Amino acid sequence: MEEQLIAPCGMNCSLCISYQSMKNDLKRQGFHKKYCPGCIPRGENCIHMGDQCELLAKGKIRFCYECEIFPCKRLKTLDKRYRTKYHMSMIENLEFIRDNSVELFLKEEEIKWLCNECGGVICCHNGLCLNCDLETLRKNKKYRWKEE
Ligand code: SF4
Ligand code: SF4
Ligand SMILES: [Zn+2]
Repeated sequence: MEEQLIAPCGMNCSLCISYQSMKNDLKRQGFHKKYCPGCIPRGENCIHMGDQCELLAKGKIRFCYECEIFPCKRLKTLDKRYRTKYHMSMIENLEFIRDNSVELFLKEEEIKWLCNECGGVICCHNGLCLNCDLETLRKNKKYRWKEE
């Protein structure tokens, strides 16, 4: 995983369905998916934090924990959605990076999201490996994480 795929809001773009769809070129495999190269590589924030934060919009900080009002209400709302539906937390990610390092964070993420079959990365939005589990996604385009 790459440092530049960690967005200022704490999202790990390498886990994102839009990033992984691009990486695996799912359009060529018959899926209608948005492609996104990641927040930093594309040079603008995704809909997550939108244009509503000036600090982020102007690229004034690398990570939200540098902000005086971290975690702001918007980030908390986003975080709650991700904790509930997508098995991850932006705020925890940011605190970990702040208290340790991006390098260590990336190492832990590689372990946490490893596909045991191909060594690739599991997508946080559906819990699938978009290399190994495409049939599941083909049968149910809205597939989201196995019920637990
Ligand atoms: S859509 Fe957002 S979270 Fe997904 S890769 Fe793009 S910037 Fe990252
Ligand atoms: S924590 Fe600060 S920098 Fe991050 S989105 Fe909220 S207001 Fe913007
Ligand atoms: Zn796999």
